[in-house]
Amino acid sequence: DGYFEGKVVLVTGAAGGIGRATAIAFGRAGANVVVADLSVDGGHATAAMIVEAGGKALFVQTNVTRAPDVEALIDKTVSYFGRLDCAFNNAGIEEEHLLLADADEALFDRIMNVNVKGTWLCMKYEIRQMLKQGGGAIVNTASVAGLVGAPTQAIYAASKHAMVGMTKTAAAEYGRAGIRVNSVCPGVINTPMLARALERDPTREKKLRNLHPIGRFGEAADVANAALWLCSSQAAFVTGHQLMVDGGLTAI
Ligand code: NAD
Repeated sequence: DGYFEGKVVLVTGAAGGIGRATAIAFGRAGANVVVADLSVDGGHATAAMIVEAGGKALFVQTNVTRAPDVEALIDKTVSYFGRLDCAFNNAGIEEEHLLLADADEALFDRIMNVNVKGTWLCMKYEIRQMLKQGGGAIVNTASVAGLVGAPTQAIYAASKHAMVGMTKTAAAEYGRAGIRVNSVCPGVINTPMLARALERDPTREKKLRNLHPIGRFGEAADVANAALWLCSSQAAFVTGHQLMVDGGLTAI
């Protein structure tokens, strides 16, 4: 609908799931979209989908846990599209579900590295660019597990709570510089991440679906709609906010 016409938007974890749906939605709304992901095939496919729909996209292979990758991602964004208006920091992982005392250090390090360090690095270089331009909007993909506990996902919940802390702090630090920072907190969303979790344990499907008073899993497009709104001028006075897109999961 042209709402983001001429804006430059970066989406991480954009090779699939929530990131792909959001990148495509931004492209449809007229944005120039930078697609970042570890996955080359998936990233190129997302960029191709945006271009096929008449939009502009650039894929940059990126490991968000590596500072040189993230710095290069922002440099490429600016050299290709001229600026950076909005960033959706969405790359994240969850792994096998274990009780807290059964998890090991390697699992802790993997999850914290991608979800916490990766998000921090992206915010760091995005904010440096946005400060030069006089503003911008950032949305991080946290989770309902960033607001309430998540049995068998203690480390994931810790990582998402950490992202909420960074969102609030960055909103406070950079509000006067014209940078808004918010999170989306999805419930259980129908993406490859969910498919992998259900493959590990198919018996969980009904229980997970029933966590949502709306009675279904969320779709990636449900989260994309929220992310676009938070990035838009309609949300000009919204910052430091965690927007639940959870079918009511946290209401009960
Ligand atoms: P997904 O696994 O389908 O997509 C995640 C993407 O991130 C993948 O394309 C993957 O290649 C990429 N990625 C992983 N590590 C990376 C790294 N180091 N550098 C760059 N890219 C990397 O998952 P999804 O369900 O679309 O999840 C997206 C985000 O939403 C994640 O942060 C996840 O924690 C969060 N989330 C998902 C759900 C859900 O139910 N699916 C619920 C709440 C929050």
